[in-house]
Amino acid sequence: MSAYDIIIAGAGPVGCTLAERCATQLNWKVLLIDKRGHLAGNCHDRPHENGVLIHQYGPHYFRTNNKQLLDYLSQFTEWVPGNYFVTSYAKGEYFPFPINLLTLAQFFKKDSLTPDEALALLAEKREPIENPKNSEEFVLSRVGREMYETFYLGYTLKQWDMHPRDLATSVCGRIPVRLNTDCRYVDHEFQCTPKEGFTALFTKMTNHPNIEIRLNTDYKTISDEAPVKVYTGPVDEYFDYCYGKLPWRSLAFDFKAVDQEFVQPNVQINYSNDYDYTRTVEIKHVTRQEHPQTVISYEYPKAEGDPYYPIPTADSQQLYERYKQLAEQETEQHEVYFCGRLAEYKYFNTDEVLEHALSTFERIKNKHGH
Ligand code: FAD
Ligand code: UDP
Repeated sequence: MSAYDIIIAGAGPVGCTLAERCATQLNWKVLLIDKRGHLAGNCHDRPHENGVLIHQYGPHYFRTNNKQLLDYLSQFTEWVPGNYFVTSYAKGEYFPFPINLLTLAQFFKKDSLTPDEALALLAEKREPIENPKNSEEFVLSRVGREMYETFYLGYTLKQWDMHPRDLATSVCGRIPVRLNTDCRYVDHEFQCTPKEGFTALFTKMTNHPNIEIRLNTDYKTISDEAPVKVYTGPVDEYFDYCYGKLPWRSLAFDFKAVDQEFVQPNVQINYSNDYDYTRTVEIKHVTRQEHPQTVISYEYPKAEGDPYYPIPTADSQQLYERYKQLAEQETEQHEVYFCGRLAEYKYFNTDEVLEHALSTFERIKNKHGH
């Protein structure tokens, strides 16, 4: 008999959610491990030395259209309303971003624009590409070359060290273009941030007598056994890179404390054509923490380091499909379930991985939960 009913590798959003579901709904004994020294995976937040809450792995703007998911998470946290406003710095000016009526008016030096005027303007600017096949074609077909070169090209080259024409449409397609004056970064119906932070949320979620947590522990080093396992780390690493390494993009974060209440007018400023960093983030706008000081984070994209972004190209997708087949065999033969941004090699947002975690729980429950 094993001491645990399930072992979960990775205590990010996916691992914590599966641990909570198995512990409370199946009354299973859960071993939840993470090779890092904290919970919440890349959603981890913590106080900086000056006490200001920071997002350690980049800004996390929680948003979802799924009311059920929001209700589920609301068992573990209260929320503060999302305050997700981004500007893009270009040609010495700050533009509201994503591109909307205000951006268009400012960019093309008009006093104001109605939706119809903007449509006519964009019709002149857009390149006639019917079925865009990559991020460059996607943006050119939406807003034309001038705005592509001002807001997207430099940022994308920095972020990915790749040309937008080599990246799937879904990369730049994450950013909406709006014919209204809505300046929020994303479109989702529910935009809110855990009141005490993500780490507090996932700590509360996993605070259960059936859940044992072991931090600073790599899955590869444990000798414990269980009839069911979940793996949320990088899928290529699990299989010892047998088909070669999947490409991942990483980031370095430079956090600078500043002795004033706020530095930026809004949480995020994107720099497409200036500096080595892509964006500066003052997450205090989002956490709404009251504190006399602040912290600004500078993001420097890099090739080496923790795997933060799967790189959506045709080649990497093909390579992933081979690992996916191995993962499916592993599930069938050894009851190891692969779930999450790293394990499924997909550019998922947090709400999307949480939905996957909940559907993986249903699979596990249906097969083993008797
Ligand atoms: P992760 O959060 O990556 O957690 C996986 C965990 O597994 C990690 O803690 C890791 O240490 C652990 N692990 C890996 N291998 C092993 C092993 N061998 N043994 C033990 N443990 C292991 N989402 C949003 O919704 N809004 C945003 O604004 C947003 N911004 C983002 C900004 C950045 C810079 C990044 C990188 C991501 C952002 N995301 C955002 C996405 C969000 O971080 C992910 O969707 C989410 O964290 C994925 O959860 P996960 O559990 O799949 O993986
Ligand atoms: N992007 C851009 N200019 C910007 C912001 C984003 O070209 O000012 C492109 C870039 O390729 C980026 C992608 O759109 O990687 C997705 O941006 P998002 O802000 O959603 O990225 P994330 O928050 O996931 O890093």
